[in-house]
Amino acid sequence: MSEGNPTTLTTGSPALLTREILDKQLTRETVAALEGCVRCGLCADTCHYYLAQPQMENMPCYRGEAVRKLYRENSGLANRLFGKPTRAKTGDELSLDSLADIAFGMCTLCRRCTVNCPLGVDTASLMRTARSIATAAGKAPEILVQLADSAISRGENIELYRDLLLEQFKDLETETRKKINDPSFTIPIGKKGADMLFVGLSGEHSIVPPAILFHYAKANWTLSLFEASNYGSFIADAERSKKITQRIIDEAKEIDVKEVVIGECGHAYTVLRWEAPKWFKEALPFRVRSLIEVLAEWIQDGRLILNPDANPEPVTYHDSCNLGRNGGLLEEPRVILRAAVRDFREMYPNREESYCCGGGSGMVAVSEWEERRMQAGLPKAKQIKATGAKIVVASCDNCRIQLSELNERYNLGVRVTGLAELVVNAIVPPVKQ
Ligand code: SF4
Ligand code: SF4
Repeated sequence: MSEGNPTTLTTGSPALLTREILDKQLTRETVAALEGCVRCGLCADTCHYYLAQPQMENMPCYRGEAVRKLYRENSGLANRLFGKPTRAKTGDELSLDSLADIAFGMCTLCRRCTVNCPLGVDTASLMRTARSIATAAGKAPEILVQLADSAISRGENIELYRDLLLEQFKDLETETRKKINDPSFTIPIGKKGADMLFVGLSGEHSIVPPAILFHYAKANWTLSLFEASNYGSFIADAERSKKITQRIIDEAKEIDVKEVVIGECGHAYTVLRWEAPKWFKEALPFRVRSLIEVLAEWIQDGRLILNPDANPEPVTYHDSCNLGRNGGLLEEPRVILRAAVRDFREMYPNREESYCCGGGSGMVAVSEWEERRMQAGLPKAKQIKATGAKIVVASCDNCRIQLSELNERYNLGVRVTGLAELVVNAIVPPVKQ
């Protein structure tokens, strides 16, 4: 996942701006993706958009062409020196609006086409380059930019937010106490000497179930003041992404934890586990794991005892693209599910070949793309239906929102939940729900 640096660009013509970003991103991998496509078309039916609507615009290679065109027109001395009158205008004509539409609204960066291309052409990384260009040109979806900026602002002004956050955490603490029937339970915040810093998302579902599990596993943990989400990554803006990530790194260093555990969120895991060390050009001074890795380990070593009969309904699992195909967490959720439910059913295809739900890479936050999302989610809806499951587990909030909406749109008759919630339901001794 290479990213440009849109926030520090000088403003200029769209053509100059495009050239500046392309120059920044011309790594060996990007050039390979730009030059390597032989237009065989084999990637077409690897993409959920194409499967839902088989038309040329939905072929990954067609999308990649949008960036290749810019590359051809902006590379080579002849084009640079003499191409401007005829070619540079395509930076305008191509219309950054249409580039933004392709990169943000017609690709979830799921990388299914990438892993299935016989030549390894990484169309997802080209779409990320297109996002960088669009963001620098002010064409990124406004809501994604606002969410990124608001996370940065909270990080820079954390003292202003501290009391409000502590109040919210108190409510979650009260909720957790009720569920475990233990009035002395506390959610630790900023606890020096904690082994683990847990970074969740907003919402009770992201904090209370893990808190219950940490309680039963007797974990020495503390809760982050920040959310794991990183909207800077969705807009492919390395500067914003780094600032959002830096908040968590600073907090972890301050508390001096041994590891940071990311809640059930695909992109947040990818960002901290895989991207941050590259951005900061150094290994982080703590281990980074997803909650699902931790739970799988605790179940395997007997630290958490589960009763699968507590979850008797048929359950299926949706592999989040970021956790599974891109993050390598393919078996951990299955270890958890086999221990926590009585009837686990796979969707096909699954693991690395899982179809994207259609809501990834920030898509669920952009309301005007709801209809596209619903259409792009059709292959996933069909997969779910074919399992006959009554419960669909998604270990990523983006996926969870999308799957809940697909459930309604396509009358799937399922309940969508997270892994930690199912584990809580199965824990021995049982937890009052
Ligand atoms: S991206 Fe790969 S699979 Fe798709 S047309 Fe190009 S070479 Fe073929
Ligand atoms: S990354 Fe995913 S959504 Fe984007 S073109 Fe490839 S298969 Fe389609």
